Amino acid sequence: MSLNAEPLRKILDLENKKGYSDSAVIGGLDRFLHNWASQAVESIANPRLLKRWNKLHLGDSNYASLSKAQRQGWAESVLDLLAEVERGQEEKNQADAAPVVSQPSSRVRKQKTEVDQSIDSPITVIKGISSSLATKFNKLGVKVIRDLLYFFPHRHLDYSQRKPIAQLAEGKEETILANVWQAQEIRLGGRRSTEAIVGDETGNVRVVWFNNPYLAKKLTTNTRLVISGRVGLFKGRHVFESPEWELVEDKELIHVGRLVPLYPLTQGLRPRQVRKLMKQVVDQWAWQLADFLPPGLRERQKFLELPRAISQAHFPQDEDMQTRARIRLAFDELFLLQLGVLNKKRAWQEGQPGTPLSTRAPVLEAFLRSLPFELTLAQHKVLKELLADLELPRPMSRLLQGEVGSGKTVVAVAGLLTAAANGYQGAFMAPTEILAEQHFATICQLLSGTGHLEGKEDYQHSYSGLLPHPLTVALLIGDTTRAKKRQLQQRILTGEIDIIIGTHALIQKDVEFHRLGLVVVDEQHRFGVTQRSALRQKGFNPHVLVMTATPIPRTLALTLYGDLDLSVIDQLPPGRQAVKTKWLRPGQRDSAYAFIGRQVADGRQTFIICPLVEESEAIQARAATAEYERLSQDVFPSLSLGLLHGRMSAAEKDKVMRRFRSGEMDILVATPVVEVGIDVPNATVMMVESADRFGLSQLHQFRGRVGRGQEQSYCMLLAQNPSEVARQRLDIIEKTHDGFELAEEDLKLRGPGEFFGTRQSGLPDLRMAKLSDVALLELARGEAIRLFEIDPGLEKTEHSLLVKELTRVWPEAGEWS
Ligand code: ADP
Ligand code: MG
Repeated sequence: MSLNAEPLRKILDLENKKGYSDSAVIGGLDRFLHNWASQAVESIANPRLLKRWNKLHLGDSNYASLSKAQRQGWAESVLDLLAEVERGQEEKNQADAAPVVSQPSSRVRKQKTEVDQSIDSPITVIKGISSSLATKFNKLGVKVIRDLLYFFPHRHLDYSQRKPIAQLAEGKEETILANVWQAQEIRLGGRRSTEAIVGDETGNVRVVWFNNPYLAKKLTTNTRLVISGRVGLFKGRHVFESPEWELVEDKELIHVGRLVPLYPLTQGLRPRQVRKLMKQVVDQWAWQLADFLPPGLRERQKFLELPRAISQAHFPQDEDMQTRARIRLAFDELFLLQLGVLNKKRAWQEGQPGTPLSTRAPVLEAFLRSLPFELTLAQHKVLKELLADLELPRPMSRLLQGEVGSGKTVVAVAGLLTAAANGYQGAFMAPTEILAEQHFATICQLLSGTGHLEGKEDYQHSYSGLLPHPLTVALLIGDTTRAKKRQLQQRILTGEIDIIIGTHALIQKDVEFHRLGLVVVDEQHRFGVTQRSALRQKGFNPHVLVMTATPIPRTLALTLYGDLDLSVIDQLPPGRQAVKTKWLRPGQRDSAYAFIGRQVADGRQTFIICPLVEESEAIQARAATAEYERLSQDVFPSLSLGLLHGRMSAAEKDKVMRRFRSGEMDILVATPVVEVGIDVPNATVMMVESADRFGLSQLHQFRGRVGRGQEQSYCMLLAQNPSEVARQRLDIIEKTHDGFELAEEDLKLRGPGEFFGTRQSGLPDLRMAKLSDVALLELARGEAIRLFEIDPGLEKTEHSLLVKELTRVWPEAGEWS
């Protein structure tokens, strides 16, 4: 049996730092020592050391009453003794050739039965956790002891300020220290309950505990107890109704008189039971968590040590320590996350060299000069970032965010031209065929400003005057005939085609590139690891630019897309008209329909988004079909309506969108799940049913479907009976047209889980960190970058614990040194 001196040594070190103020451990050093020493003494076999040990009175110390100088002297002798005990132990160990337990993970071994216990043992090894209790904890995701240490309270009640009974205020949460005068069992509402009268030097107060007759026996006269709870009023007098209580004994209070943790509970777990258990677990096990943060980092940031942070997160000594604990633990989550995403990026960028491109191509200049408009400042900035990446010998991985219409395409085309000018191919991938077609048209349009259209076949245009050879752009989609497809594939393989536009299928199946230099991925589809490895298997390591029109708050972007560098176009080209947005009351529905009718009479078109039904796609589709029929028959019998829902095949959806875009339909009725990411400049009205149930970002996306042409556009939001929060949101969207601002608001109002609606997963499990905590996230990212700079492979010994932790939280990465 060996001595684990570490906890005590840490405490004494901390005492030293804090000037021997007896504040290093909650409840005071004496209390800690009392527990610790009774276990530790068993490990001392040498009689001489035992004698010294006894002289120091570790088991019944009286540190609190010593002067500071005496405390220091005493602490030093204890440290000496600890060192000597350990030396003796080591010698013995060597003699026995027994394995030496490494310091941070060694532990107090009270009994032989505990030898195999560790922080990763199932919780059933803990005294007091039966298998049925363990099952209840398992339901909360708690399986091993470590999980329990990380099973944080969702909040704390502040019962730390004791009040004299005479000063109790009705309706407040208060804490008193009182004597029991009398306690008896009574019947309240037919239930056996306890009533007590307790008092302090300032007065008396009545306390009742409903449905709990047992307390009456426990609370004998003159028992001292602390009571914390809400002060009520009964017949004009103060009363505590079923408050938390705890007897004043010679131990630390856990239910009252402090910041008291409230744990997430499941059926069959009682608050007092859980709290008591957690206190025991934290006291016994928190010390044994190895602190995986590099010591230099921890000291620089003045973070609490991990064991201390854990114990303070559960049972904080005060609010200040509670905050420090939260910061340390939140940092851990964000730091590990950032190390994970940055490692992914490293694997992509350093696994294979990329293709440095020269960006001083004359064609780029000519192209920019030929545009019928000036780039906005934001476009300039982003273009510079993009070009700087292309020049590097490692593959770019960049996310370009910008609202619909902010001009991302122009920037992407500049990149594609750069690749072509360097003799490489560029691929532009859209989420749907119809969007790919749209991009093909846009790009040809943009190029015709400088180049001369020389050769034109279906799905393929060539421009002269741009490059020494004709610049060839092609579209490859499902609609392409088989023969044409084969021909295009052949030309892509020989390198005859410079810029190829299509859907994601482009990089997957039969398409072989000659020299692929840049891939642009449009819209929010994530260009994941699978797609990248598909490219690698073809022997390419192109630069990748992912574009999205969904404004994602920076914190969320750094988390979800942390493996990408971020560029943002945060400015719209001048002269854009804001879409007039109005939240309509239920009574205004008819006038909204009348307004749509007038717009259609003027030749405009309308989107109507169906009510959000939070059920299966099948049910959504049925609801949309019903709404479509109602609108066609009862409301707009003389207009032409179309229907779009998620149950339709891609080809059917495509057909409907084409008909709407061509103007064959006046009104398109769609379910919210349908991505209507298409340019219909003639559409001027967006009507959203049950708008109160959508997030701000989603509403903003819907609104972005109109306002693309010259005409003034309108967004009408219908809400039957919005809640207070929903009203707030509707007010905000009426006034705010900045997508990023809305996204931030959304994140604040609804939290990250719902930010993307139901379909976005992949969010990490953050318990302590909040994604609204920008500063801490930036700090974590900065520290993660710095760590990779000083130790790219995380090979240094001081990082071995960190690597172990990373392997635990990111097992799928599997690439840790
Ligand atoms: P996004 O892809 O970001 O939604 P686009 O690149 O399609 O936006 O641009 C939307 C429209 O704005 C296009 O018609 C484009 O030609 C035009 N445009 C882009 N940049 C500017 C600019 N700086 N000034 C004026 N119009 C611009
Ligand atoms: Mg676009």
